[in-house]
Amino acid sequence: MSTPHSVSAEEFLPRDTADVVRTVRDSRGRVARLTVSGGELLDDGLALPDHRAVVSLRRMNSVLDINLGKRTVRVQAGAKLSDIDRRLGAHGLGLPIVGDHRDITAGGFASVGGVSSASHRFGLFADQILDLEYVDPDGRIGTCGRNHHTERFHRILGAGGRAGIITALTLDAIDIDKDHTWLTTDANRFLDFDSFVEHAHAEILRPANAALQVGRWVDTAPLKVSRPVGTGQVQLGTVRFGQWSSLYPTTPTRSLRARREVGTRTRKSLGAIASAASGRAGMPVRNAAAGALMFAPKVLTLRDAEYLADTVISSSERGPAYRVGIFAPLSSYSSVFYRLHDLFSGHRERTGCFTVISAMTYGVRSAYLRAEAEGRNLPTEDHGLITFTCRLRPSALPSELLRDIVSAIDDICVSEHALRYDSAD
Ligand SMILES: Cc1cc2nc3c(=O)[nH]c(=O)nc-3n(C[C@H](O)[C@H](O)[C@H](O)COP(=O)(O)OP(=O)(O)OC[C@H]3O[C@@H](n4cnc5c(N)ncnc54)[C@H](O)[C@@H]3O)c2cc1C
Repeated sequence: MSTPHSVSAEEFLPRDTADVVRTVRDSRGRVARLTVSGGELLDDGLALPDHRAVVSLRRMNSVLDINLGKRTVRVQAGAKLSDIDRRLGAHGLGLPIVGDHRDITAGGFASVGGVSSASHRFGLFADQILDLEYVDPDGRIGTCGRNHHTERFHRILGAGGRAGIITALTLDAIDIDKDHTWLTTDANRFLDFDSFVEHAHAEILRPANAALQVGRWVDTAPLKVSRPVGTGQVQLGTVRFGQWSSLYPTTPTRSLRARREVGTRTRKSLGAIASAASGRAGMPVRNAAAGALMFAPKVLTLRDAEYLADTVISSSERGPAYRVGIFAPLSSYSSVFYRLHDLFSGHRERTGCFTVISAMTYGVRSAYLRAEAEGRNLPTEDHGLITFTCRLRPSALPSELLRDIVSAIDDICVSEHALRYDSAD
């Protein structure tokens, strides 16, 4: 057994479950709070507060076993989903739900639930977990799963590391060749919000054989510029538009493959330009790059489609923002969407706290979520995920305003029987 290696006073890098046990036990009474991280710590320039330590599972990243008969894969919690998926790919298998960037780890995704644009078919990442091993806050090893210690299983999944450190997981895989499964995009564009929501609702209710689906809505604040001679301001207007994309399986032809190559190169260049364009001057370029996602290529492979956002959005979506994700039961989906939209655009109008308001949505058919709803005596329906990202004017969200927004969202959730998706906080 190796000794937990500490790269600094604050970060521990265990290599196996025994290391995690030792780290947890040794930290008790010594550090005020032990937090967990799946991979690299983000260098956001913020030092950890005193007496706080982080356990990073990035060295616990092995694929332990692939069981071809049962179509399952056993992994250490720090394994990246993209790596697991590649290993499965060699056997004609794949993970049904992966996050939209390549560094997400199995333990990190499990502890937030994990959604994707395939969730209308396969539910959450949590639905794909057969069982898991964890170390509890007292340093004891335990196991739980879909069919044993189910209450504990539900407590650990989605707990964001607060209920214990996940050390290993067994995941379901499906028969799929992601590099040779070709998809064609059917896109519908909208200039008014009501038609967008109506269309999104209809597609979530009846996705037909869509492999992936996603709706995006973007609403910019009116852009005001000062006239040079000081005669007031010119208002350049507001841009509002939305797109619903359903991606269906298709048979590729030679020309479709060629179009895919061009599309891939264009997205990569946009990503590179966006990351190079920093500061205020870079904003229009970054917005254009993010906008490119609205115009996904007509044809692409399933693997390209799963990481489409990674090519562009991780470099383009910068700056402070308020984010929220809500799982709305399908019977109140439109009402939740309107109420969230009115809440954020109302605040923007009254206080000017937000600039661009954008929303993303798709269907989620999850046994895990239905069980969550049942546990809270809520109707057990399928859901639509609605996330809002509201870009902040610098220091424009004072804590009283934030409190108002959070309590209005809580009211919406209670009255509409909706559930918050905490990872989007
Ligand atoms: C660009 C980008 C795209 C994203 N896309 C998606 C998406 O498509 N779908 C989605 O659901 N989310 C998405 N997210 C959110 C992100 O996937 C989740 O936060 C995910 O959990 C991150 O995984 P990670 O391995 O990096 O974990 P971290 O970011 O390190 O941790 C996430 C949470 O899990 C806890 N945690 C990490 N590892 C463990 C463990 N082994 N045991 C217990 N708790 C643990 C941490 O304490 C933390 O609360 C995205 C985030 C970004 C930045």
